[in-house]
Amino acid sequence: MVEFIQRDNSMQKKETRAIRTQIDNSLLHEHSAPVFLTSSFVFESAEEGRALFAEEMAGNIYSRFSNPNTSEFIDKMVSYENAEAGLAYATGMAAVFGSLAALLNKGDHVLASRSLFGSTHHIFTKILPRWGITCTYVDAGKSEEWEAAIKKNTRMLFIETPSNPGLDLIDLEWAGMLKEKHGLILNVDNTFATPYLQNPIDYGADLVIHSATKYIDGQGRVLGGVAVGKKERMDEMRFFARQTGPSLSPFNAWLLSKSLETLAVRMEKHCQNATELANILDKHPEIETAKYPFLPSFPQYDLARKQMRAGGGLVTFNVKGGYHRAARFIDSVKFLTVSANLGDTRTIVTHPASTTHSKLTEEERAAVGIFPGLIRVSVGLENVEDIIADITQALELSK
Ligand SMILES: *Cc1c(COP(=O)(O)O)cnc(C)c1O
Repeated sequence: MVEFIQRDNSMQKKETRAIRTQIDNSLLHEHSAPVFLTSSFVFESAEEGRALFAEEMAGNIYSRFSNPNTSEFIDKMVSYENAEAGLAYATGMAAVFGSLAALLNKGDHVLASRSLFGSTHHIFTKILPRWGITCTYVDAGKSEEWEAAIKKNTRMLFIETPSNPGLDLIDLEWAGMLKEKHGLILNVDNTFATPYLQNPIDYGADLVIHSATKYIDGQGRVLGGVAVGKKERMDEMRFFARQTGPSLSPFNAWLLSKSLETLAVRMEKHCQNATELANILDKHPEIETAKYPFLPSFPQYDLARKQMRAGGGLVTFNVKGGYHRAARFIDSVKFLTVSANLGDTRTIVTHPASTTHSKLTEEERAAVGIFPGLIRVSVGLENVEDIIADITQALELSK
């Protein structure tokens, strides 16, 4: 049975619920939830097996459908995002694809923000068209273009805010109104902000997706994905997921559930370190522009303050001297990691134009603010003085 400790925690704050939501203890009275590495579950009688399959009673049947560890992880995410129900997936992309494949039909049209995670972009441009589902991209800030691009068959708005790596924001309140006015499904990839900093459901999103691989795990160990939202949408997605099998492993669910216990404190520190670094970079003579949502110089500073609790863990900047300077900068960092990932305890520097966004054309990159000199920093939890020292010495060395 999927049972949660029956305590009334509805009055507690999110950070408390992320720690205190826990599956029932076993007879051994463990304090920390164990890992349920089991593919299937036992029926106590023929009648119980029948009732479970008929969905007349709640309970676990097979770990492709549900498992106590994934249930605990989902329960915490539902609570963190103010949602009604949720589903866990093996990866963030499985969650993205699972939502699109379950909720869209042949002939449907999707309106999406132009700046999307690379694989999501490929699903929209190369995979969904094979099934007659089309997509139009619109620029984040240009609200008139969104309304003009809505067609008779438009069914979904798909957005990422802040975007990767441009850090462009979309006004969630406005997106919620647009979806309401045109009867669309609002689907938000909230990976960058995390449920600690931003809750799109409060603005009317039907569902919210996360790559749990990033800040939710937060330590660069496992892949995972999760979708939470309105019960009705989750039921449609559950049917699809149950039959097609993109399930999260119980072990990864156990790690991710444990990680949620520290999400709030980690995010506070990520944001604090990122703010300090952004302030230094903002005034640095070797940098053309530095971007961070909570920097007063950020073009959408007021919007960031309206819909985010803090600015997040990502800082981007354009070095003077374009591609070659950026490459020299990457080769000059001493202890920070050069990688394409983000949301780790370890600070990671990335050159998006030659790695994560190399498959886009030069024009497509420019349209979403990815210039040859752009560097993305996923600011980690090291002492910020060390992070700043490594980045500033690399800026000097790469001159
Ligand atoms: C990483 C990422 C994904 C994909 O997640 P995986 O866990 O790598 O499959 C989707 N959206 C955003 C914004 C991401 O950063």
